[in-house]
Amino acid sequence: MSDLLFATNNQHKLREVQEILGGSFRILSLKDVSIDIEIPETQETIEGNAIQKARFIHELTGLNCFADDTGLEIAALEQRPGVYSARYGGEGCSFDDNVAKILGELEGVENRQACFRTVICLIMDGRENIFEGRIDGEITTVRRGKDGFGYDPVFMPAGYTQTFAEMPPYLKNGISHRGRAATRMSHFIAGKKQT
Ligand code: IMP
Repeated sequence: MSDLLFATNNQHKLREVQEILGGSFRILSLKDVSIDIEIPETQETIEGNAIQKARFIHELTGLNCFADDTGLEIAALEQRPGVYSARYGGEGCSFDDNVAKILGELEGVENRQACFRTVICLIMDGRENIFEGRIDGEITTVRRGKDGFGYDPVFMPAGYTQTFAEMPPYLKNGISHRGRAATRMSHFIAGKKQT
């Protein structure tokens, strides 16, 4: 089995991506390779951050690796929080602070349209490859559900009546932004192995 380093220590993400890549790859976290430093994430786009993080980790380890970056883009907020999704509520804020901030900004706003967008940058055999995944939906008026993380309690994908936090993980992973990007990466890797 080959190893693939994922530039994260987020257990939710590790589990999601390991499920999608299945048994052919063992996904390693930063902790697994004893990397305990802050990875720079200073770009102004989701794509830019994914590339920056993957290059940083690749230069450090020389391993086949990938990094992801995700943004929640809310139409009525001119696509904010976008690239600032992790720290929208301010430096050191919690997931709950971020959710509170968007619910406050959307109070009384009728257009609740939003999308999650993930970009994954994979560096494999020294080459960079980009994969994108997106899911459209809307922001609910109150938090619902206990699963997942981040904005999951207030994001309801189009065509569903449950928020991401109310869905069983297999359902969220099957349709999510990161799930879609990771599935594209998985197909790419599977194709490479056959050639
Ligand atoms: P990251 O770039 O993947 O770390 O994502 C940035 C921020 O977007 C995270 O800190 C979360 O607040 C949010 N986020 C990313 N993925 C998800 C998800 O699957 N559900 C809910 N929020 C997410």
